[in-house]
Amino acid sequence: MNNEVIEGLKKLVPEKDISIDELMSRHTTFRTGGPASLFLRPEDEETVILVIGFLRSKGCPFFILGNGSNLLVSDKGYDGVIISVERLNDLHIENDTTMVAGAGVLNSAIASLARDNSLSGFEFAAGIPGTIGGAMIMNAGAYGGEMKDITSSVRAITPDGEIKVIPGADCDFGYRTSALKRGGFVVTSARLTLTAGSRDEISERMTELALKRKEKQPLEYPSAGSTFKRPEGYFAGKLIEDAGLRGLSVGGAQVSEKHCGFVINKDNATSTDVYKLIQEVKKRVFESSGVELEPEVVMLGDF
Ligand SMILES: Cc1cc2nc3c(=O)[nH]c(=O)nc-3n(C[C@H](O)[C@H](O)[C@H](O)COP(=O)(O)OP(=O)(O)OC[C@H]3O[C@@H](n4cnc5c(N)ncnc54)[C@H](O)[C@@H]3O)c2cc1C
Repeated sequence: MNNEVIEGLKKLVPEKDISIDELMSRHTTFRTGGPASLFLRPEDEETVILVIGFLRSKGCPFFILGNGSNLLVSDKGYDGVIISVERLNDLHIENDTTMVAGAGVLNSAIASLARDNSLSGFEFAAGIPGTIGGAMIMNAGAYGGEMKDITSSVRAITPDGEIKVIPGADCDFGYRTSALKRGGFVVTSARLTLTAGSRDEISERMTELALKRKEKQPLEYPSAGSTFKRPEGYFAGKLIEDAGLRGLSVGGAQVSEKHCGFVINKDNATSTDVYKLIQEVKKRVFESSGVELEPEVVMLGDF
């Protein structure tokens, strides 16, 4: 990493919030990934804007990190700056049914606060192990719900470095995508509209969904959830199972025996193991069904 960039960043972010050669295996739910040249934890939205503006002016690559729960980082690492939004973590109820969450707030924390205040609508997302920023970008969804249903607006940094409040209806949320993702926006917070409900019923629903996840998903192993998007008219897990790939392994990575839609880090896998397994699954599913699987997992660095 260029010294001028490092020195410039030190003027914007205290040195204690900058790490050099930070291992990304510490920041991804796959528990794999090599070092990022620089890793920053800006303390507020204003600092994120300044950091991004500075990096753009220097032509230095950067990547916004939520909870790393949909991310595969190369074993060679990332030759750029990781900007973690973990400190954009304000979470509050704005009026009776509106919640505002900083981009770095975990979905589980939002779900707990919503439940404790008898607000319904976020139960579906309680078990999605990411941040609300990542959820907005990906239009995260589960069990019939998606971010699209509850987002009244998103506050984000535009590619020109300006702050914009984008109404939910203009985010063009689609299946695991959004205009925010396509447009290169950096989410700093989201405003969610929920509905008044019964605390007991909300709690019951959350418990029911958590049990379903535990029963169906290999939560005992590191992973990034569903590895592939659902191809129109099919289920990725079923196609993988029908291709006879249950339990297929490359190094320490494995197609989960419990749920074929998950590639798991079974035994000290590297990102290369995961990547090679994803390619092998894609190839074999195409050979057996003619369906082209597309990874849902975001890949960062050279593979
Ligand atoms: C066990 C398990 C179960 C899962 N189940 C589900 C599920 O049911 N439904 C589902 O949809 N997903 C699921 N996932 C996948 C994952 O949790 C979601 O995609 C989640 O929304 C990713 O959020 P994150 O904060 O971890 O994002 P990250 O993985 O950190 O990032 C994902 C992408 O979003 C970008 N990004 C993150 N934050 C921001 C921001 N503030 N501004 C701009 N870009 C940003 C990153 O640059 C990257 O491109 C699961 C994952 C695991 C491990």
